[in-house]
Amino acid sequence: MRSKVLFLPGEEKSELLERLPLLLGRLIDGGFSNDAFCGMKVHVGENGNTTFVPADFARVGVRFLKEAGARPFLFETNTLYYGQRGNTVDHLNLAAKHGFSLEKVGAPFLIADGMRGESSARIPVKGKHIREAQIASLVPNIPCIVGLSHFKGHMLSGFGATIKNFSMGCAARGGKLQIHSLSKPWIDVERCTRCGECQKRCPADAIETKGGDFVIVRAKCTGCAGCIGVCTARAVRIQWNEASESASQKMAEYALAALSGKEAFYVNFLVNITKECDCYGEKMKPIHEDVGILASRDPVAVDQACLDMVEEEIGSAHKEVDPEIQLAHGERIGLGKRDYELEEL
Ligand code: SF4
Ligand code: SF4
Repeated sequence: MRSKVLFLPGEEKSELLERLPLLLGRLIDGGFSNDAFCGMKVHVGENGNTTFVPADFARVGVRFLKEAGARPFLFETNTLYYGQRGNTVDHLNLAAKHGFSLEKVGAPFLIADGMRGESSARIPVKGKHIREAQIASLVPNIPCIVGLSHFKGHMLSGFGATIKNFSMGCAARGGKLQIHSLSKPWIDVERCTRCGECQKRCPADAIETKGGDFVIVRAKCTGCAGCIGVCTARAVRIQWNEASESASQKMAEYALAALSGKEAFYVNFLVNITKECDCYGEKMKPIHEDVGILASRDPVAVDQACLDMVEEEIGSAHKEVDPEIQLAHGERIGLGKRDYELEEL
């Protein structure tokens, strides 16, 4: 049987906001029991980015969830790279600046993976690449999830939307490192101030001093990425060397781990479709006119339906990357189906 994907067409934000409850009503259909905690996965956009899904949509979604009997909250994880979302304090300040505050949205915003992305739960996966995913520790405790995902281009996987939001976006820092890199981190001695903080915090005792310099012993390092988070000098460096194909497949495997055992609903915003993702801290021009909102209970089907609508632009934005890989692998491992039936509202 094909997966159902709902489609709310529209280019005007005000119209989409007004009709979002209709879409959510069809998607969720039945409400919630026992004041269920319901986590809304969002991305607040890097500092300077202007094309992330606006907080107004989260506000309307929160109101809908409350009326349906749930106890909603927003959640997100800290980033692997050094930026305004690399630790909980800076991240929450940026979220509030971008409108994701309790006052504006009507629900609290939680960071799911600790102060610096160090807090993870190990979830087993029978994947081609991943045997144990490092998922943000809050995520396994969320019984019900609603994903608000922005569909846009992505340099590593061709595009990013629901699968990306629930893989990279639900991984703790070590998990993000596992997806992005084949190597262990290394210390740039030119930047290092020799404060010793990384050595104190390394759970594997993998950071040693040699001739006064701090070095990571690869054989001991478990890739938890804790040292990246604690280094205020930004001296712990990452080799972004995972190939596009494997990284895309790892993303599907991480999404499978993060979503395991949950009731989940996926909403993709095909608006402000940019070449690069919302982690870019700059204003970007869209590569396609706005299309609307798509939603499904199937994370693969909703991404496939979006890609089918803008495949030409996504294909020419990142010619060297095959955007279908994450979808094909997602289907292969049982994350969802690529075959869908579109219903326009
Ligand atoms: S935390 Fe950073 S600056 Fe301090 S010793 Fe480690 S690498 Fe060097
Ligand atoms: S990644 Fe984790 S295990 Fe490896 S050196 Fe850094 S803190 Fe230690």
